[in-house]
Amino acid sequence: INSKLPEVSTTIFTVMSKMANEYNAMNLSQGFPNFEASPELINLVTYAMHKGYNQYAPMPGLLSLRDIIAEKTNSIHASDYHPETEVTITSGATQAIFTIIATCIHPGDEVIIFKPAYDCYEPSVELFGGTIVPIQLKTADFTVNWKEVQEKITPKTKMVIINTPHNPSGSVFSKEDMLQLETLLKDTDIILLSDEVYEHIIFDNVEHQSAARFPGLVERAFITASFGKTFHTTGWKMGYCLAPKELMAEFRKVHQFNVFCSNHPMQYALAEYLKTPENYLSLSNFYQEKRDLFLSCIKDSRFTFTPAAGTYFQLLNYAEITNEGDVAFAERLTKEHNIASIPVSVFNLNRQDNKVLRFCFAKTDDTLRRAGDILCRV
Ligand code: PMP
Ligand code: GLN
Repeated sequence: INSKLPEVSTTIFTVMSKMANEYNAMNLSQGFPNFEASPELINLVTYAMHKGYNQYAPMPGLLSLRDIIAEKTNSIHASDYHPETEVTITSGATQAIFTIIATCIHPGDEVIIFKPAYDCYEPSVELFGGTIVPIQLKTADFTVNWKEVQEKITPKTKMVIINTPHNPSGSVFSKEDMLQLETLLKDTDIILLSDEVYEHIIFDNVEHQSAARFPGLVERAFITASFGKTFHTTGWKMGYCLAPKELMAEFRKVHQFNVFCSNHPMQYALAEYLKTPENYLSLSNFYQEKRDLFLSCIKDSRFTFTPAAGTYFQLLNYAEITNEGDVAFAERLTKEHNIASIPVSVFNLNRQDNKVLRFCFAKTDDTLRRAGDILCRV
């Protein structure tokens, strides 16, 4: 057939996880925990199944789940999301992102994204005839040059996509970043897609600056988040989308023909589990300990790093080890040293010369120690 995505091949996550399995390597590539979700949460799913939550959920999601999401967001960020009209449950953040883009992007529209960028934005935009306008994050610390953003905005700019905490760099937007963005978008019709799937994984007592905190952003923002990240259940593919009601009404028109609704028993379980704020508020400390353990295990290695400020990913620079490109080095590490990672150049067309790999530290302490041993010998 006449491919709609001629430049796209199988995602790096599939490629590296497959290679990890083939070589029996530790898999620190694709981002997922290698430990179990809470037994309480799992029990709630089986309870929901036995209670008969086995048919279609309401199209926008179970109201009790939307209620608690609105309550949680409004209490953390002083926002005013209405559960009936401004919250929709999705099959992971990926579906939310795809549906947002399908809802908003017409052929010829320009979409600003920051590189390196998570891999699903670009092909989704292209499928709907949009044009990507990439902006490179600064090399040293992955911050944004907002002046450049201003210069790249044109009358055709339909959307800006941001992601904080940021995959793959682990950097986070400051309040000042969000204020700059708010100023730039003021008096425009530009839509903001704010990917906040790592909203509860942010370290060193820094606060997550959700788009929900900034009135000039809220009015134009689709915010998406993922229970996969927050509750160690990436395989459930459960997430949600927040937006002002006019935008959400358009989103739901597409959502209803995309998936109609997402998994019903899990929605019940998540609604119950979210009633205990500690279940998500404890996550940053949990992952900060894992980050610190991983970094302490590799401190005597030849890798260099800036500690991740959020997410469960750590970038490691290997310039002191080899001149190889990152794809070749990631393959060699998997095959010869039995540890798989993600070469960052695949998110990032213009920075092939940067010698950086991404490692996922959502792993048991034992796995992190063993990974550290390997990396110290490389
Ligand atoms: N956005 C980012 C930045 C991610 O890292 C991920 C998951 N890796 C997603 C979206 C997709 O989330 P989900 O698994 O809920 O579809
Ligand atoms: N978000 C995960 C990561 O960044 C992977 C998700 C996927 O495999 N599509 O590693």
